Amino acid sequence: MPTYLHCAPPLALAAALGRRRVPASLMLAGVAASILPDADMLNVWYAGVRYSSVLGHRGLTHSIGFALALGLLAALAARRCGWRRGIAFLFIAASAASHPLLDLLTDRGIGTALFYPLLDRRVTLPWRPLPLTGAGLFGTARLWLECLWIGLPMLTLATLGAALRQRLDRKQPLQQGAAMATARASAD
Ligand SMILES: [Zn+2]
Repeated sequence: MPTYLHCAPPLALAAALGRRRVPASLMLAGVAASILPDADMLNVWYAGVRYSSVLGHRGLTHSIGFALALGLLAALAARRCGWRRGIAFLFIAASAASHPLLDLLTDRGIGTALFYPLLDRRVTLPWRPLPLTGAGLFGTARLWLECLWIGLPMLTLATLGAALRQRLDRKQPLQQGAAMATARASAD
């Protein structure tokens, strides 16, 4: 697992989409969803579950199905939490799915059950730029690698996304104003 920056994708997405679409509470839920998949280690440590089993590390909780289920829960809770339902579903599902996708960049472990239950096999990538072997789980070497391969792309996504959103939001009131003027003119 990346050690420091599992939370980067939800933070970048929230910055790109803006506070109006992703309020602080939804952003925090996204950060939690991006970290939650590694709770499967509790099964390995405390319940004696085999590392490679479905309930072991990088199994069920590291699948797209699990991410979609979390998104569904967020959609169900959306009204109570003051979130837009569609955005809550997509944001939480994307935040949770980002976890196994980032895990795929690391070179340790037995792969990720990304497509469980459709595909039982663990998935690995031929290109894994985040070496855990040698770099260690903590420390500045690890932080630097994660900044390079996760932080920098996510910062770019946040910056470009926010710029695009501001541009679209500026256009929208103009278009709405023009539509209202046309409606008024046709009523006259
Ligand atoms: Zn993980």
